[in-house]
Amino acid sequence: MIDVHDLSFIKKSSINYNDKTEKTLIYRKKGEDQFHFEFKCPKCQYANDYSGSLDTVKLRKDGKNKEFYVVKCQKCGEAFNIEKFKPGKGYGRTS
Ligand SMILES: [Zn+2]
Repeated sequence: MIDVHDLSFIKKSSINYNDKTEKTLIYRKKGEDQFHFEFKCPKCQYANDYSGSLDTVKLRKDGKNKEFYVVKCQKCGEAFNIEKFKPGKGYGRTS
């Protein structure tokens, strides 16, 4: 297991491919340059577990410019985007 106190960054999210959704985990340990990526590819089912740099991309979605993290399956090469600042439930809505 990962001890969050040893981490300088953690992002839990999910990725979609067709109708499949898989959980993703991106984290970086304190004092390390490399990010760690753990997710099961929803396209080919490969269990990714690798280290590398964290790439971001800006895309237009829902009429807004948003920033996404990019994760890439090490087996089939499919790239998935994870929204960087995704509000939680009940956030930003008052009505
Ligand atoms: Zn894959």
